Amino acid sequence: DPACGAPLPVLGRDVTVPLVTGGEVTYAALDYAASAPALQRVWDDVAAYAPYYGSVHRGAGYLSQLSTDLFENSRKAVAEFLDCREGDQVVFTRSTTDSLNLLAQAVPAGCEVFVFETEHHASLLPWRDARVTYLNAPRTPDEAVATLERALADRDPYGPALVCVTGASNVTGELWPVRELAAAAHAHGARIVLDAAQLAPHHPVSVRDLDVDWVAFSGHKLYAPFGSGVLAGRADWLTEAEPYLAGGGASRKVARRADGGVDVEWHESAARHEAGSPNVIGVYSIASACKALTEAGFDSLVAREQHLIRKVREGLAAVPEVKVLSLFGDDAPRVGVISFVVEGWNSSHFAAALSAEYGIGVRDGLFCAHPLVRTLLGSDPQQQGECGAPEAAPGEKSLNAIRVSFGAGTPDEHVERFVAAVT
Ligand code: PMP
Repeated sequence: DPACGAPLPVLGRDVTVPLVTGGEVTYAALDYAASAPALQRVWDDVAAYAPYYGSVHRGAGYLSQLSTDLFENSRKAVAEFLDCREGDQVVFTRSTTDSLNLLAQAVPAGCEVFVFETEHHASLLPWRDARVTYLNAPRTPDEAVATLERALADRDPYGPALVCVTGASNVTGELWPVRELAAAAHAHGARIVLDAAQLAPHHPVSVRDLDVDWVAFSGHKLYAPFGSGVLAGRADWLTEAEPYLAGGGASRKVARRADGGVDVEWHESAARHEAGSPNVIGVYSIASACKALTEAGFDSLVAREQHLIRKVREGLAAVPEVKVLSLFGDDAPRVGVISFVVEGWNSSHFAAALSAEYGIGVRDGLFCAHPLVRTLLGSDPQQQGECGAPEAAPGEKSLNAIRVSFGAGTPDEHVERFVAAVT
């Protein structure tokens, strides 16, 4: 397919690993959904900056100023990448998990939160201090919207409410109807945050077009594995909230009071939630990845990924023992994240064999989305099965699954090797 273009250069593409059968082979990283390799371009940018590293927002020296400029320009680059609205804030965090915990801590008092049980634990769990309604797994995108509509119709229309939803599932790779869910949320006076951890590496995310209030993603899944993440969106709840972390950088003015206590004025900008010395390398690498993906063009990235998805799905469909996990059905649009079980195989053993015999790195387990995987496997919701835990006994239903995932750096040979190994 000429629209596909070549894979983008990534680190680790020449790494060789030993095989139990003897010899060695180049490593096929097919676990992008957990962490994607760094783009070569990101690594080059980081390496070029590293000698000039200095503290951000603190020093008067040249390198400190340079680092501060890079840090603040990275914020602008991310806002551009996400097509943010005027007045939106871009807060730098450690990861998607961190971003969603920050937002959970910033929701107004009495906020109701609505979240599908199918979410990754990072979006399912941070809301425990709020009044949470867990929504049942829908079997179509339309059902997802209808389920949310029904739940919102029953809520207190005057109180604050937040919907949290994934853009692309880390288990099935399926795309969720984000725009429609955002419209439903807003029609009922609720806000919405998009967990774009798996969406942003594969598709352009426009805060404005999708009309979501916030978006969260992680650098390490977006080819920038240097320890940073992003929460971007509406400033109001963030500015009204207590700082996520208390400390230097978040505080504008601190003074002793006459009664001996301490008065603090917190920043109203994103810095309010970024106390402490920021991870300027991580932040700079995210901005670099945003630019690199935009320059490569999502049209060709998507075309290439769809071509790889077709290869994998056709390969898996040819094996009668393989069952691909899906919530929305075979024709649902999806990213390069595919989970499956193989009848007669323990998923952990299967994944270990792919590694030992073929040099292929995939993941097995419940992928930090226990309720979803249990629903997809049809297992008892109370059944144990943990990430990487022992499997079901022979003849019993699988408790774990195998996940293969790929992206902008994946050459055809990696998915061809995977298909050959499975078949
Ligand atoms: N949401 C989704 C959909 C994810 O796939 C992940 C990571 N597997 C997360 C959130 C959490 O991301 P992180 O571990 O980078 O915080």
